[in-house]
Amino acid sequence: MLAPLSEGWPGEERLLELGLASLARWDDFAAELDAFAAGIVTSRSTVTVAVDEADARDLSRIRDWLADQGHPVGALSRAELRDAEPELTRALRPGFSADAERAVDNRRLLKALTAACHASGVQRIAERVTDIDVLPHEQVVVAAGAWTGKLVKGAPVRPVKGEVLRLHRRNGAPAPPTRTVRAWVHGRHVYLVPRAHGLVIGATQYEAGFETQVTAGGVRDLLADAEAIFPGISEYGFAECIAGLRPATPDNMPLLGRIDERVTLAAGHGRGGILLAPLTADAVVAELSGAPLDETKHTNPRRFS
Ligand SMILES: Cc1cc2nc3c(=O)[nH]c(=O)nc-3n(C[C@H](O)[C@H](O)[C@H](O)COP(=O)(O)OP(=O)(O)OC[C@H]3O[C@@H](n4cnc5c(N)ncnc54)[C@H](O)[C@@H]3O)c2cc1C
Repeated sequence: MLAPLSEGWPGEERLLELGLASLARWDDFAAELDAFAAGIVTSRSTVTVAVDEADARDLSRIRDWLADQGHPVGALSRAELRDAEPELTRALRPGFSADAERAVDNRRLLKALTAACHASGVQRIAERVTDIDVLPHEQVVVAAGAWTGKLVKGAPVRPVKGEVLRLHRRNGAPAPPTRTVRAWVHGRHVYLVPRAHGLVIGATQYEAGFETQVTAGGVRDLLADAEAIFPGISEYGFAECIAGLRPATPDNMPLLGRIDERVTLAAGHGRGGILLAPLTADAVVAELSGAPLDETKHTNPRRFS
């Protein structure tokens, strides 16, 4: 999801601005990559909904906070939500819609980026780096995700595990929603991202070190919460469950910038690395050309030291 508004959180005002700056670049970024893999953008617009009254109160606080930040989001009535997404549970309380947000197919995106790099003459060496000091290069950009702290001593990046499920739509099963649906379900969060042949459901969140086994409890919670908002999933087929590691920092802002004359960090993107990809690319190029972007003035990787 490219969802800086729907994932916005009071206290994370700088992350909201950074996410919006990257979202503004996304349509051009996707258009450029379209030549390498079509269909990267899979849906436009996000709707956020609540299951109970406490969830609805939390959502309305977020909506007020977004408006205070100068980014009002659209209000939806129950009838509008029912008309727009008739397969969702009828009793849901609509929160808001963010029409500028997008969802992308992350696997197609990586395929396109790999092909684009290849076409631009990037040489890929499939080897694990163990020590950046021995690399023979004048400039080094470390973009090692959750493992960045293993290459750059003291880099404050830790892994935050997350699980996602992929379901495929079987013949006769109800159609998935047309937009991304984010839901607050009795205090927990779940999202449904429509895909051409089904749905992606995510995501759990645990502090579990570098361990990436999918847990039975994670799958149960995701399915139960997703079914609470879209009962039709019980007729879908189970395609995949997978766990990954979000590279998190203490303030949830990425580490984007130089740590010395030779090494630049592009890491710590937490739950928004795909959203922040085009901004990160611009920021790295700007940093290497000696003219850092104003938009990254709060991402200095040395801000914790
Ligand atoms: C369940 C889940 C859901 C998510 N949903 C979203 C979402 O909806 N929207 C969004 O924007 N983001 C989302 N994210 C976050 C996003 O996936 C991350 O922010 C992003 O992948 C970070 O990109 P990265 O390239 O910095 O790190 P990674 O994707 O982790 O890539 C780092 C790479 O560096 C390699 N590497 C590490 N160490 C070395 C070494 N020593 N030598 C060589 N290579 C090395 C690794 O093998 C890996 O390929 C989600 C993450 C998870 C886990």
